Amino acid sequence: MRQHTPVVVVVGTGGTIAGEAAHAGDPLGYTAATLGIEALLDRLPKRPEARLEAEQLMQRDSKDMSAEDWQALALRLGEHLARPEVGALVVTHGTDTLEETAWFLQRVLEPRLPVVLVAAMRPATSLQADGPQNLADALTVALDAAARGRRGVMAVMAGRVWEARGLRKGHTFRLDALQGGEAGALGAVEAGSVRWWRESTDTPGLPDVQRQRALSAPPGAWPRVAVVSSHAGSDGSEVAALLTAGFQGLVVAGTGHATVHHRLQAALDQALLAGSPPPAVWIGSRCPAGDPAATIRGLPVQEGSTEVPALTVWQARVELQLRLLG
Ligand code: ASP
Repeated sequence: MRQHTPVVVVVGTGGTIAGEAAHAGDPLGYTAATLGIEALLDRLPKRPEARLEAEQLMQRDSKDMSAEDWQALALRLGEHLARPEVGALVVTHGTDTLEETAWFLQRVLEPRLPVVLVAAMRPATSLQADGPQNLADALTVALDAAARGRRGVMAVMAGRVWEARGLRKGHTFRLDALQGGEAGALGAVEAGSVRWWRESTDTPGLPDVQRQRALSAPPGAWPRVAVVSSHAGSDGSEVAALLTAGFQGLVVAGTGHATVHHRLQAALDQALLAGSPPPAVWIGSRCPAGDPAATIRGLPVQEGSTEVPALTVWQARVELQLRLLG
């Protein structure tokens, strides 16, 4: 265990956790991302075991998160991670795209310290506000993980700790909306202490060139990657339209065990044959549960494209965009 009092920087980015409604009884008619991070922290009991620093980096409803936001967030977190007195980072975030931000930060920062994302399903003004407990739990997890030398991007919600990989928003309304893959949660937070159940999964690091470009190349110039879905009646016509619009990568939300309607498959095969250069195509599953490791696969269009880590299609879209930066 560390002997000194670590600094924990709490970075606010918005979300429902910082949202307000006109009526306390209204869990849905609210505006996300209005309360500042200082106000959220002021509601919590003091933490003598940490020196907390609060920083409001942005105020976003996370449905509107952009690649520019990701880049700004990664750069700022990188600056804090480089400070020797910092033991951990906590980031408040909306639930809608938290899984994408989590994977982007994990890949681009590969943090040497814990970076704990935290969210809520009810606005701060709600009778059932879950944000204060989730934020208190995130601080607990950040400090405990730092003391144990655990590292990497995690998410905390409703008493569960999740790793970035495989993370997903799995429910529209329940307070335990964040879920993970088949490997389950990393641990649980109960009554102010953490029980760790397993280690985070190892993922080979992103090559330096891709990491550097993600941090410095203007996001407007990043390769464009779309998610397309396979469904009854798919005709694949969107494939040509997307390639004409300049998309370089496609992640297919396939059926079941990553299967694809034969007409969409024909359109993909045609694009792979005729494209110069051909698009990168990864196939995953639209099933909300099941092991993505078993389902994400890359069509053999370019060297290395078949080595796809176990991700949901939404995280695979981020990963493919990062790979194409190389
Ligand atoms: N729309 C909100 C957001 O993602 C939802 C939430 O935070 O739960 O910012």
